[in-house]
Amino acid sequence: MRWTTITCFLLASEVLMAQTNALPQTVAETSHYLSTSRYADVMEFVAAIQRADADIRVETFATTNEGRALPLVIAGPPGVVDPASARASGLPVVFIMANIHAGEVEGKEAAQMLLRDLVSTHRKLREELVVLIAPIYNADGNEPISTEHRKSQHGPEHGVGVRENAQGLDLNRDYMKLQSPEARGLVHNVLDRWDPLLTVDLHTTNGSYHGYQLTYSPTLNPNAPADVIAFERETLLPQIRAAMKKRHGKETYYYGNFVDQLRPEEGWYTFDSRPRFGNNYAGLRNRFVILSEAYSYIDFRARVEVTYEFLHEILGAVEDNGTKMMRIAAKADEQIRRGKLRKLGVRFEIKPWKDTEILWERSVAADPGHGAPDPETGKGMIQRTGDIVPVKMTDYGIFAAKESSEVPFAYLVDAAAHEAVRTLRTHGVIVETLDGETTLDGEQFVISDQTRAEHEFQKHHELTLTGKWKSRQETFPAGTFLVRMNQPLARLAFYLLEPRSDDGLVAWGQFDALLDGAKTAPVRRIMKPIGIRATVSAGSPAE
Ligand SMILES: [Zn+2]
Repeated sequence: MRWTTITCFLLASEVLMAQTNALPQTVAETSHYLSTSRYADVMEFVAAIQRADADIRVETFATTNEGRALPLVIAGPPGVVDPASARASGLPVVFIMANIHAGEVEGKEAAQMLLRDLVSTHRKLREELVVLIAPIYNADGNEPISTEHRKSQHGPEHGVGVRENAQGLDLNRDYMKLQSPEARGLVHNVLDRWDPLLTVDLHTTNGSYHGYQLTYSPTLNPNAPADVIAFERETLLPQIRAAMKKRHGKETYYYGNFVDQLRPEEGWYTFDSRPRFGNNYAGLRNRFVILSEAYSYIDFRARVEVTYEFLHEILGAVEDNGTKMMRIAAKADEQIRRGKLRKLGVRFEIKPWKDTEILWERSVAADPGHGAPDPETGKGMIQRTGDIVPVKMTDYGIFAAKESSEVPFAYLVDAAAHEAVRTLRTHGVIVETLDGETTLDGEQFVISDQTRAEHEFQKHHELTLTGKWKSRQETFPAGTFLVRMNQPLARLAFYLLEPRSDDGLVAWGQFDALLDGAKTAPVRRIMKPIGIRATVSAGSPAE
């Protein structure tokens, strides 16, 4: 009698445990792909994963304008609980981020499904990799779900969120200026603290009608280390592409658009080299990146599936190549420490990469009011046929510098440039201050013209300085900021500080107060190695 009672008790408790620890389903799955998750759904999903696996950790990496805590889920082997233990494990760290554009929702669903695999069917991957997942980066943009958003996208039927955050900023244009709490938290608390070897950024396309379920991009700015770029293009992405075809029967290719949907032979163009975009930013940190763009004209379920499969193939490729990738990244850091950076670009132009065959959806001109919108103009001009054909064309997939500048030994920044220095420090750039008045042979940038962009972009009229670096001996007061260029983030510091940079702190107005009527830029450079007495300030860079 007594035994029976105990057995019943144990059974009941086991049933309760099983219910509590049951693996969760995503909103996409439970709604039969009619809906996408809200912030509360994602937080509940993550909590259920933690109940199922006590080794899964969750950090908050930023708090949004509307007060939402952004989760970073850490899925590694037991004992990997923070950046120090991740480094000590010697394992590659892969960072997957979804929903930067909150109308592009399949990454958010696929990332949750991948997380579930990492505590169940694919648990073994966590012996080889530390996976960080930020499933809902633009949480504020996610919440105003409406069927009015992204209407040319094929589902989910019950609507999606908006592109911008609550400040009206596009978070994928905020990587350099860091105007949003989301971007400041991402850069400082994820990229700088965890230093992921590979970042994967999940999106949905808007443009051309082509034959790929998913397109992808490596880092596009040629200021990234050549070995990183070469490994992405020659090994990593081709291997993942082949696996997508072989194991899933799906066509994928480099992201781009036809210059003209009706005349594909005119070429396939990638987008932009500026590091305001996350894929280009990661390269300036000497690390690997993959931008993923699910094809918005296949249905929601197919987009979730292809993104999920792509994530799995990426993790498989890092399992295979992680050691080599870590060696390439470490070498890129080391070359900078040894002062091997000589010259980098400040302004860039798109270039033909190769002639190849690209899958085009045969399209014809339609009468106004008929057919699908022209993906380039947004007007109802294109009749799609559903017929996918390979077309020979040039892939304009790379960029080259059209203007370059010498990499100095160090930059000096005006002691009053507080906004700019705060941004540098949030990025993780080491900024020192001169201990005392110091006389140095250096160069000043003599301004001949200041031009503001006519159109507002991301709440700024971008500023372009014209002028020349000129040698001059100067005496700098104590407290002048010093940025040495033998630090691992030198490529990023160069891009932020060069006065002619197409995406630097001058362009984004962070030196405006010091540039009003100025004859020289508030940034000097010291070309030759010399002992400079300066101290790293203890000031905390970011919220
Ligand atoms: Zn996007």
